[in-house]
Formats: sequence, structure tokens, C-alpha cells
Amino acid sequence: KYEQSQLLKNLPEQFFASLVTKVNSYIEKGHDVINLGQGNPDQPTPSHIIKSLQVAAEQPTNHKYSPFRGYSHLKKAVSQFYKKEYDVDLDPESEVAILFGGKAGLVEIPVCLLNPGETVMVPDPGYPDYLSGIALAKAETVMMPLREENNFLPNYKEIEEHELEKAKLMFLNYPNNPTGAIATKEFFAETISLSKQHDICVVHDFAYGAIGFDQKKPLSFLQLEGAKDIGVEIYTLSKTFNMAGWRVAFAVGNSSVVSAINLYQDHLYVSLFGAIQEAAYTALTDSQNCVREMNELYERRRNVLIKGLNEIGWKVNAPEGSFFAWLKVPDGFTSQEFSDYLLETVHIAMAPGSGFGQFGEGYVRIGLLTEEDRLQEAIDRLKELPIFN
Ligand code: PLP
Repeated sequence: KYEQSQLLKNLPEQFFASLVTKVNSYIEKGHDVINLGQGNPDQPTPSHIIKSLQVAAEQPTNHKYSPFRGYSHLKKAVSQFYKKEYDVDLDPESEVAILFGGKAGLVEIPVCLLNPGETVMVPDPGYPDYLSGIALAKAETVMMPLREENNFLPNYKEIEEHELEKAKLMFLNYPNNPTGAIATKEFFAETISLSKQHDICVVHDFAYGAIGFDQKKPLSFLQLEGAKDIGVEIYTLSKTFNMAGWRVAFAVGNSSVVSAINLYQDHLYVSLFGAIQEAAYTALTDSQNCVREMNELYERRRNVLIKGLNEIGWKVNAPEGSFFAWLKVPDGFTSQEFSDYLLETVHIAMAPGSGFGQFGEGYVRIGLLTEEDRLQEAIDRLKELPIFN
């Protein structure tokens, strides 16, 4: 009856929604699908965090509207967490904003900072939702290719000078979804100097900040000198504490960006359910052993997967962080054709790289979100395919 607004029609198609539909159609037909396509953590939230939610839910004060912009003690906990983990100083009131999940913050920021027609630099391949906020802000994009030969870091020399002049905002994401790359100090330092030179605000998406392999702890963008002058980092509890359904994250860093987000959110929400804020407080301030154990679990899964794939003759590189492996598809297939072929023949779902951008073509993404024996079973099924014989 009612037509959608032009703004809504401009939103890009939600790539994962179509992947889920396809996978479900195979499950409904009775196939035992090994779903390596999505990015949903399979482990439960640690029990001490659940307990904290239960206790807080019993407290009537948590049933009211919580204060605009959230509980002060939670913002203090975020600041202390950054000090402890990264030796970064944050003022809890002016440099920390509470978000309804990282995704909300990533979509809100372009709306908060851009006028129609302004330009945003976006990694390609990349997390598709960066494009959603850009579409809502009616802004333009300049894609930054992430090439394997440059360890999936953008090469700023490839971006034309006039595009750098126009750019107002840039998204980065390390450890990276979908490539599994992690960033170097030198790259972040180069980003800060580029940003200062061209007055570009940097949004570093640190969703996989807690997942680094081979003893490499991923760097926070804010560890670099001058980072707070030019950008913010988005830190979500979804992956670090297996709290994806809880919708709690933070934007930290530049105070003018934090204040723009806060102002916008004042008009959309009041704040998160108080009991969820209390549980987030517990997650950040209690023992971090659960985070170390989860990192080790993903590393074991990564090792099983990469070793197995190389053994069947699919030569692939190991990711350095995040919980994704990014694999070159065998010759003769597009990424969509290859993932359709796997789903149809051996009932394994992988995300086609083309869903992450033009430079994702030629790759598929696997999530390390399945038990080791299921990953091994996936390898055994792949081994039977004629292309690996
Ligand atoms: N950024 C990246 C790169 C992601 O992969 C995800 C989730 O999959 C998010 C952000 C959003 O996380 P959330 O909205 O659960 O905080």
C-alpha cells in the first residue's frame, strides 16, 4: 500500500540475507549443510557475563530508562579497558559513546558527519554495511582496493589526488573481514599522516580486535600518536565476548565525532537496557581469560582448516587474525559459481568474495565458527570433488 522512500530504495541489497535464504533452502531439502558462510560466533557468552545480566535484571533501577548516553561507570570501564589493553588514554565522558552494536555506529557515522555528495574512502573487499550509512547520507564512495600482494592493506598511492582532496571520511578494518589480514604500525602511521594532509576523518572498525594468531596482538588504531585527533575506533563486544545478540559496542576517540554520535542517538534512542550495560561492565572489567581461550580456539580451528586444505591441494594462505579465512577460488570459476557449486555438490556453504566488493571476485570466505571435527568433515567432502583430484 505504501511506497518506500527513495532513500530506502537507495540502500544496497543486504548480501547476507540472500546467502541465508540460499543455505536454508538446502537445509529444508534435508541436506546436512556445513555452513562456513556466515560470521555468527558459535560459542556461548561466558557464564560470568550471563550471571551478571541475570543479577542486574533483578534490579528495578535497571528497568527504567537508563540515562541518555548510558551509565557513566560503563564508560569509565571502557576507558580503563583501553588503558589496560592498549595503553590508550580516553576521557570517559567526551571520548566514549555507547552504541547499539558496532553496525549501528558504522551506519550512523556517515549520517552524522557528511553532507550529500561528499566522499568516503571504503575498502574493497570490505564489510558491506559501510555502504549502508553512505547511502543514507547520500554520499559518494571511492573504493580502495585491498590486494593480496600488499597484504590486503590499501595502497594510498593508487588513489587519485583529486579523490583524496574530496574525501571527508575513510573506513578501515583490521583484523580484516573478509581477508583475515592485520595492520602494521607503519600503515596506521601512514594513514594518520594522509588524514592530516587531506583532512579525512578515519573510522577504524576494530570488531576483531581480540582475535590475532601466532602471538600477534592486533593493534588498536588509537595506539598511534595523533590518532585521536583524526578519528575514532569502533569496539564491539559481539566477537570479543561472544555477545553478538546483545547489541553493545563503543565508539572511542575523537571527541567531536563522539559528540556527533551522541547527539544523533539522543534523537533515536535513550540508551541500552541497564542490565545489558551492567553485563558489558562485567565483561570489560572481569577476568579476560575467556578472551584468550576463544582466541586459542579460533587458532586451533584455523590450523586444522589451512593444513587440511593445503593437503588436498587447495593452496591457501593462513589468516593472521579475525575469524575468517580468505581463499582464492580454483581456476575456471567465478566466486559465485564456486560457492554455488560447493553448496550443490558437497553441501558446504562459503561466502562468495564478490559479495564484499569488486576486488573480492576470485575469492571465497570461510568462517572459523564450526567445531574442528566439522571443519575436518568439510575437508573430507571437498577431497572427493573432481577439482581436487
Ligand atoms: N564490523 C565488521 C567488520 C563485522 O564483521 C561486524 C559483524 O559481523 C561488525 C562490524 C558488526 O558487529 P556488531 O554490530 O555485532 O557489533
